[in-house]
Amino acid sequence: MQSLTDPAPITCRFCGKDDGRIVLDLGHQPSSELFPEAGDAGPDPVYPLRMWLCARCGLAQLADDTVVPEEVLGREPAALTEQRRAAIAAVAAAGVLPAGGGTAMEFPSPHGGTWLDGLSDHGFAAVPLGGRADVADVVVDACFGLMHEADQQAALRTRIDAVAPGGTLVLMFHSLAAIMDGGQWNALRLGHYAYYSTPGMVGMLAELGMTVTSAHRFPLYGGTVVLTASRGGAHPPALDELLAAERATGVLDAAAVGELGAAVGRTVTALRARLEEHRAAGRRVYGYAAASRAVSLLCLVGADRTLLAGVADASPAKLGRRMPGTDVPVIAPEELVAAEPDVVLVFVSDVLDEVRRALPQIPADRWVDAGA
Ligand SMILES: [Zn+2]
Repeated sequence: MQSLTDPAPITCRFCGKDDGRIVLDLGHQPSSELFPEAGDAGPDPVYPLRMWLCARCGLAQLADDTVVPEEVLGREPAALTEQRRAAIAAVAAAGVLPAGGGTAMEFPSPHGGTWLDGLSDHGFAAVPLGGRADVADVVVDACFGLMHEADQQAALRTRIDAVAPGGTLVLMFHSLAAIMDGGQWNALRLGHYAYYSTPGMVGMLAELGMTVTSAHRFPLYGGTVVLTASRGGAHPPALDELLAAERATGVLDAAAVGELGAAVGRTVTALRARLEEHRAAGRRVYGYAAASRAVSLLCLVGADRTLLAGVADASPAKLGRRMPGTDVPVIAPEELVAAEPDVVLVFVSDVLDEVRRALPQIPADRWVDAGA
């Protein structure tokens, strides 16, 4: 019997069932959306941060509903821009877009980025979301927009409803399989309600009457998947391979996904030890990329200015602020160069080469992948 003090059971954001398990629990964490002003001494508000895996539809999701404040827009890494170019070319080459062109509508993402320019090169004219046309021949949610929606079923249905007869839906997501393979437990963050696997997404689309017509996997973030879907059509062979690979990783298996918990301890212990070793040796350590994934990592590590003197970021919106839950300031890339750091820990592996090239004043061997 449920007592009055028991929390409400967790129900799936897609299928509404309550059969599932907590697969990752990071305790209480500050919002990675809110970078406090450097002069704000805190403490910063914290919220439960847990991942729940639905046993019925396979959607990994935030267990808790926490409304986080507005996102500070980051600067889009070149790696993401390049990936998008490659993805548009791959989708166009797969022959799954409506023949002869037409219209394209995009569901935006707080992360920014757009496919509309790229699609216009393939004959699809942009029509605004919420404008006079309520459908388009190509509907795109390919800049990580969908994951920001608390009600996953309603959000996916809205996107599908916007697909004109004979049209195509394009979705892009950072695969749960990549999160598992890379031990990327810090992909879990407030405001990102869903963590899709290819088997899970194919099932969700099927439940809403859509068949996946092409599947591409890109190396961004260790594995980013682009699917197209339409009403009717056939599964391509590339999809079967991707489904098999992700099932083998265990994306639908709560015990396998739950291994992410072990990765938390390993990463945190290793990074803490590295930072202490550098401090003991008198080395000046900085970070690069005040990214959301650095937030819970630095909080769990217990980072402060004595261990990490600052985190550089190219986004002007984050300057004058500090990393949530810590006193570590966010600094401009020029300040990082002026500080002549001994070590720069890069929190987003995908930008390592990019920042090395952008800041050649810092010797190449001082840049280190924080996750390596
Ligand atoms: Zn479900």
